[in-house]
Amino acid sequence: MPDLPQRASVVVIGGGVMGASVAYHLALRGERDVVLLEMQPFFGQGATGKCAGGIRYQFSTAINVRLSLLSLPMLQRFEEETGQAIDLRWPGYLFLLTTEEDVAKFRNNVAMQHSLGVQTEWLSGDEVRRRVPLLRADDVLAGTFNPDDGLADPNGVVAGYIRAGQRLGVRAFTDTPVTGIAVEGGRIAGVETPHGRIACDVVVNAAGPWAGAVGELAGVALPIVPVRRQIVTTTPIPGLPADFPFVIDFAQSLYFHREGEGLLTGMSNPDEPVGFDESVDPDWELVHLEKAIERLPILERAGLQSHWAGLYEVTPDAHPIIGAVPEVEGLYVVAGFSGHGFMHGPIAGLLLTEIILDGEATTLDISELAYSRFAEGRLVEEYNVV
Ligand SMILES: Cc1cc2nc3c(=O)[nH]c(=O)nc-3n(C[C@H](O)[C@H](O)[C@H](O)COP(=O)(O)OP(=O)(O)OC[C@H]3O[C@@H](n4cnc5c(N)ncnc54)[C@H](O)[C@@H]3O)c2cc1C
Repeated sequence: MPDLPQRASVVVIGGGVMGASVAYHLALRGERDVVLLEMQPFFGQGATGKCAGGIRYQFSTAINVRLSLLSLPMLQRFEEETGQAIDLRWPGYLFLLTTEEDVAKFRNNVAMQHSLGVQTEWLSGDEVRRRVPLLRADDVLAGTFNPDDGLADPNGVVAGYIRAGQRLGVRAFTDTPVTGIAVEGGRIAGVETPHGRIACDVVVNAAGPWAGAVGELAGVALPIVPVRRQIVTTTPIPGLPADFPFVIDFAQSLYFHREGEGLLTGMSNPDEPVGFDESVDPDWELVHLEKAIERLPILERAGLQSHWAGLYEVTPDAHPIIGAVPEVEGLYVVAGFSGHGFMHGPIAGLLLTEIILDGEATTLDISELAYSRFAEGRLVEEYNVV
């Protein structure tokens, strides 16, 4: 049974990329007695461990591009900073656009990205077909490619932040679900676990797809819901080029990237209901594989290596909530990244640390990501959700 401390300065709930990053950044700023609690037997087995590892600049809102402009360089410095290798690769992301509506939206996106210094290339349909001849792409009207988009190892990032945090004094526990949050007189007083209570003034809800349930423990209704998403990986595919990009067939929410000598592919089911089911849906997998082979016929030569399902943590505007929950003094949230949070984990942990210790985020103004935006009707819709 974990030997929990009776008191902490901050309790972070959730040992995925967000919780690990917050705990590390708090300790780096000198915060003592930070405790990280994870309900599963290992860290990083929630959304983070199920994710595709993609990191990109290509978003439709300036705030997401700005988060990437800060977070991706943190991943580039990650090994130097924490001592943990994270298998960074830069194959670039190639978005395939097959509808006039998407062509128009992506033209605006690329202009906005250029205005922020992100050099995404605009490609004609013929240029897409020339660049990746393995694709069956006769219906592709245009594409966007950014060579600075890439991939990193999610488990490495979690492990690196947790170990580096531990060296700075963070106490991190697995097998420790938070089952209650004590609120007294409108302020955080502590958390309950099956192994005992920890008194504290500050709680960080970094529970990813479970953030809504954790919010309820403090009597707060956070608009974050779990939605199942599936992935398949293949056996080695002879003839797959080493520089095969991270391809996203945007209209179908279908994607591929190289994984070892084979491919990893995912496709989002638009009719997937909200829920915590993490079993693989075989019917959707069939639809997915059929569409994948249509787009990339070389897949017919591959065998199935593995498959799994994980949960997106979805908010109404596909942007995260980063900041304080005003109803409960001492309660903070860093969750709801809506399927593209792994890449923003480094900067999100730093920004929430600034909010907790300094009262506001100083590295980047993220007031538009405050929880209050829902009550105030200030939603910031992200279009580039896969
Ligand atoms: C199939 C799939 C593909 C994805 N692909 C990408 C991608 O290519 N690029 C990208 O950037 N993002 C991607 N994502 C999204 C990304 O995985 C998430 O946005 C990110 O990992 C969220 O991190 P998190 O720390 O908030 O959540 P999690 O990693 O889920 O961490 C939350 C943790 O909290 C723990 N927890 C929950 N409740 C409690 C409790 N009561 N007590 C203690 N612990 C608790 C959970 O066990 C979990 O470990 C993908 C997600 C999925 C599912």
